[in-house]
Amino acid sequence: DNAPSEIQELTETFNRMLERLSEAWHEQQHATERQREFVGNVSHELRTPLTIVRGYLQSIQRRGDNLTEMQREALEISTAEANLTIQLLQDLLCLARADDGYMPYHLETLILNDVAVEVVNMADKFNQRQIDLEFESPLIPVFADAKRLQQVLVNLVENAIKYSATTEPVTVKLEQREDSALIHVCDRGDGIPLKQQSRIFERFYRLDEARARCTGGVGLGLSLVKTFTEGMGGQVSVLSAEGEGSTFTVTLPISPEAKI
Ligand code: ADP
Repeated sequence: DNAPSEIQELTETFNRMLERLSEAWHEQQHATERQREFVGNVSHELRTPLTIVRGYLQSIQRRGDNLTEMQREALEISTAEANLTIQLLQDLLCLARADDGYMPYHLETLILNDVAVEVVNMADKFNQRQIDLEFESPLIPVFADAKRLQQVLVNLVENAIKYSATTEPVTVKLEQREDSALIHVCDRGDGIPLKQQSRIFERFYRLDEARARCTGGVGLGLSLVKTFTEGMGGQVSVLSAEGEGSTFTVTLPISPEAKI
């Protein structure tokens, strides 16, 4: 007899729970949005004064003929720290914009080989490391944003250099498939344990805090790689074995013009 009233009660309880769940979800969404906004604003506000400070440091360095060795060293360290922090703020700002959907991608037909040659030459020059570039096809037309693609490659090549011994080679291989282009960045470095491979693309995630700190990273590089690659309609993955090295693979769409 009292079955209907029990059902009614249950239904009411269920509805109340649903309502609470929905409220909690909206609150959470709102808090996440506010948090993102905060990170974006702080990054923006800090970047401007820091860029000014760096400018002053550089101008003292340029005109400082009568600086002592200690002063010169202090200036060098301060400039390097300012550069790292500006880069960090820029990365945070980029991620905040991408989260909000304010990250525009200027997709155009690019020759992947040209972008890779440029990045590899730059990395060679700054790191004094031999980086091999291999490709079967000399003109791989991708549909991508030039600046973002460059950032993706720079981050992957820099990681390959950072996380492997200076005597080990770093190789960038380009491949063309029917609908996509593949970029492999391979190193013979420390490798990444299987359990952590899916987490390295998360923000601020680093395998080994102590090691990562002395290599100057903060754990944003790979999340930028993932965000930018996916923003251009591509994907990124990793194949790695501890102690043997890692291969990061980025897949990008082939230019639609080239398919005709
Ligand atoms: P970081 O600024 O620490 O380099 P990333 O987001 O680029 O941040 O990478 C996250 C973590 O993934 C790194 O701290 C490192 O532990 C690991 N990692 C990234 N690339 C490699 C690689 N090529 N070999 C080994 N470990 C890597």
